[in-house]
Amino acid sequence: MSKVALVTGGTRGIGAAISLALKKEGCSVAATYSSNSDAANKFSSENGIEVFQWNVADAAACENGVKQVTDKLGGIDILVNNAGISKASMAHKMSVEQWDEVIKTDLDSVFYMTRCVLESMREKSFGRIISISSINGQKGEMGLINYSAAKAGLLGFTKALAQETARKNITVNAVAPGYIDTEILADASEDFMKSLISKIPVGRLGTVDEVSRIVTFLASDEAGFITGSTISANGGQYFA
Ligand code: NDP
Repeated sequence: MSKVALVTGGTRGIGAAISLALKKEGCSVAATYSSNSDAANKFSSENGIEVFQWNVADAAACENGVKQVTDKLGGIDILVNNAGISKASMAHKMSVEQWDEVIKTDLDSVFYMTRCVLESMREKSFGRIISISSINGQKGEMGLINYSAAKAGLLGFTKALAQETARKNITVNAVAPGYIDTEILADASEDFMKSLISKIPVGRLGTVDEVSRIVTFLASDEAGFITGSTISANGGQYFA
């Protein structure tokens, strides 16, 4: 029987590539999004992937959402915590709202989502929980204390949970991408891109497929001995 995968933020960018890659591996995929229904519906009709809308920063919405997905596709075998945002500001100018929004969306959401799938994974004695962190959670980035803290928090979450779930054949891992070629950089100036790429030893941005391949590997049966790990994909920009 095919496995059921849930990818938060799975309708655009890195998440969309992960949803497609898991579908290609034979999974029934549920991709979630928060507000961009046009992009989500287009993604769904082009690729035949079910999409679901809820805010991952809201614990009750996560419970309802996971129930909807489970009712439609079955119990979740693979959870990919991918949804994330960033709100840049230097620390001395950062508002409490900017801090809270990023911590809730990028870190609290990972607990909110994971707690909804753990019981059924424990019953099946199988599970894969993969969270998308960032190079900035490993090295920190100026102007992003909120994002860096949330993405670093994910790594501690991953190591602790991996110890709790190992005996139940539930692996818990993180992927830490460097700068990836997504929409967010589409409007960046030539000078900004030149300076960004000059800091990446391989001399280019990463691709969404280079991230999704790591996720499909971690999600596979063959990766059962890998847990509590963080796999970096950053073109040599930082060695954790
Ligand atoms: P995008 O902005 O392209 O897509 C984000 C996705 O997450 C969208 O589907 C969006 O939904 C969804 N989303 C955002 N907020 C919420 C929310 N509150 N509730 C539910 N869904 C939400 O992101 P990227 O592809 O660039 O990034 C994906 C992940 O990878 C993020 O965690 C990011 O931090 C991380 N990352 C990205 C890097 C990069 O270079 N792009 C580098 C390192 C890490 P909607 O379409 O409705 O807005």
